[in-house]
Amino acid sequence: MIPFNYARAADAQQAVLLGEQSGAKYLGGGTNLVDLMRESLERPVALVDVSGLLHSIEELHDGSLLIGAGVKNTALAEHRLVRARYPLLTRAIVAGASAQIRNMATVAGNVLQRTRCTYFYDQAGSRCNKRTPGQGCDAIDGFSRNHAILGASSSCVATHPSDMCVGLAALDAKVHLQSARGTRVLPLTELHRLPDEHPEYETMLQPGELITAVELPPLPFAARSTYRKVRDRASYAFALVSVAAALDVEDGIIRDVRLALGGVAPKPWRAWQAEHSLKGQLATVENFRAAAAIELAGAVPLRDNGFKVELAQRVLIAVLNGLMEQQAKEENG
Ligand code: SF4
Repeated sequence: MIPFNYARAADAQQAVLLGEQSGAKYLGGGTNLVDLMRESLERPVALVDVSGLLHSIEELHDGSLLIGAGVKNTALAEHRLVRARYPLLTRAIVAGASAQIRNMATVAGNVLQRTRCTYFYDQAGSRCNKRTPGQGCDAIDGFSRNHAILGASSSCVATHPSDMCVGLAALDAKVHLQSARGTRVLPLTELHRLPDEHPEYETMLQPGELITAVELPPLPFAARSTYRKVRDRASYAFALVSVAAALDVEDGIIRDVRLALGGVAPKPWRAWQAEHSLKGQLATVENFRAAAAIELAGAVPLRDNGFKVELAQRVLIAVLNGLMEQQAKEENG
């Protein structure tokens, strides 16, 4: 590992002052960053330890939840209000990693975790534009089973690995940011960037900006919501395809819906087109199928991942059907 300076921040204000120095990184649970440092894929000049900060989950006056950036994944998944109001988020978090990692990993660290593209990690043998801009991408013509079918580019086809972020994207989460220059709030769906020609830039964070919290606005119909993840192994595997969904149906008509996909794109993929096509329509399998087809119409599969186009549609339809069945059961007692 390359030598670095270390400082433990007493509060967020001190953290952002320390984070101003060029080459500094914030350290939360360290479950991704430390691995990347061991591989020399991350080479921070300084680590600003924020692991002791921002651990609260507060309910705001309007019913939103303000989740501190340092809250552990396990604590968030188990929180009583999260389980009651946003069950898809609990399911998404529990579907990720292992219990040990979830006990260490923080909300902000989960949001900022980096791709698990194997070519990105293979420094000795593979070209990677994300690691070395302009070098080329060996994944595009390589083994691409786990790579993206939506939102990728000719520079990078990596997927975003987080399950939690797919849930947050579906729930209209907002990310609170702080730097020495002030604070701002961004929708989570605008935090991560698509690769275009510059996959080395992964988020809209400015230098030194610290994620201080993630806000979940009230979404009453999300009390009936779910997350389904399809993967190669039953645990400790990243998604081939995942779907987060919440559905608001009255008298058979879809009043509102939230949908996001994981495992298919370089960022948590909010399925805006499918949502738009469903609102105001009858909640039927035919309409679910049509919406899934609309969302996946722009998919560009690679040699080994064409199955994801069909799989994503099937999972989306199955999840929506499952929510309809759940509603029918609840209404029929
Ligand atoms: Fe690198 Fe992206 Fe290509 Fe993977 S897909 S090798 S991360 S450029």
